[in-house]
Amino acid sequence: MGKCMIIGCGGVASVAIHKCCQNSEVFEGIMIASRTKSKCDALKEKLQPTTKTVIETAQVNADNVDELVALINSYKPDVVLNLALPYQDLTIMDACLATKTHYVDTANYEPLDTAKFEYKWQWAYRERFEKAGITALLGSGFDPGVTGVFSAYAMKHEFDEINYIDILDCNGGDHGYPFATNFNPEINIREVSAKGSYIEDGKWVETEPMEIKRVYNFKGVGEKDMYLLHHEELESLALNIKGIKRIRFFMTFGQSYLTHLKCLENVGMTSIEPIMYEGREIVPLQFLKAVLPDPASLGPRTVGKTNIGCIFRGKKDGKDKNYYLYNICDHQECYREVGSQAISYTTGVPAMIGAMMIMTGTWKKAGVYNIEEFDPDPFMEALNKWGLPWEEDFDPTLVD
Ligand code: NDP
Repeated sequence: MGKCMIIGCGGVASVAIHKCCQNSEVFEGIMIASRTKSKCDALKEKLQPTTKTVIETAQVNADNVDELVALINSYKPDVVLNLALPYQDLTIMDACLATKTHYVDTANYEPLDTAKFEYKWQWAYRERFEKAGITALLGSGFDPGVTGVFSAYAMKHEFDEINYIDILDCNGGDHGYPFATNFNPEINIREVSAKGSYIEDGKWVETEPMEIKRVYNFKGVGEKDMYLLHHEELESLALNIKGIKRIRFFMTFGQSYLTHLKCLENVGMTSIEPIMYEGREIVPLQFLKAVLPDPASLGPRTVGKTNIGCIFRGKKDGKDKNYYLYNICDHQECYREVGSQAISYTTGVPAMIGAMMIMTGTWKKAGVYNIEEFDPDPFMEALNKWGLPWEEDFDPTLVD
């Protein structure tokens, strides 16, 4: 079918690359291009004997548009799948525009010096992508990603209007360390130490970090404390889903994680303000990342399950209706299949599916779109096929 260039070779990319290699009919060729080429080469060495997909590798600095353009022009992919960090979104989008190549990512742009998740920077590319006749698919991970597809599916098949959405992200996994993050520590800690927020009646309501706590009994996991966080898909779903009055996002955290985080915050280790240390400038959070366990190393040690999904409340045929769509994923099963834990797995699989939707022309619209703006049905089918089967509950316990 075609060729995909994958930028980044970390936890999420590794899963997406495994999945592309299982799907050689669509992904005839992939190029893994990242900052550290040795990681790309190691993955190629492991996977090439197992797949028909032809794997190439390259070194690239994705902060540099000219370098990206030269690499895209030499490989000529149909789609660029951005699995580097949110800081690189705009340079990669610029390179896609310059080369008229479709673009897919899993996280919205964030400037290095401001921990603020907003779509405004990427939405500003709408007209240019439309004119160039190419697609940018934003947020094709799990959350954002599958949560948007679930919302579009619920809207299409189960409701006339959706008034309330609660997105619940539960990780019941245990890696045995007192403190470690399940994906890039810098991005993860920026996310959880920021103020919380949700959307009510079209307006953002801000909370202190971890101010709102609920307890929920998750299928496959059990009872967990969860906390309201700001999350990027709230912004796009509030615009794209008809009838929304309130939309919130909750994530589970254990007490040990929160106690460590508070302590690190109190001593200044989570700050993104540069400081001088022995004559050179360092960012405390980046230094902290360097001493924490590499999320990629958690795979073999993590046991338990994740349960991520959305509870919808709205109306169908004039009657009130509740509906819960979720996926349960087992850390050890993921590790056995692709050598990664479930957090990378639940993001890497939808990233591959998003690239496949664009590559096969199943999703075809020129411009910049969030995932819920496409037909959810082929994506929902692909989730079942590629390792993230979903479950439905028509009488879920609601979150107050
Ligand atoms: P990792 O830190 O494990 O991997 C990031 C990769 O990007 C690394 O290989 C890194 O290279 C590479 N990279 C970083 N900067 C550059 C650069 N300037 N040029 C080229 N390559 C670069 O992160 P994750 O795999 O955990 O996360 C990847 C993305 O997925 C992030 O954007 C994250 O926010 C997103 N995500 C989305 C989720 C969702 O559900 N939507 C959930 C989890 C993550 P090097 O190896 O040299 O460090």
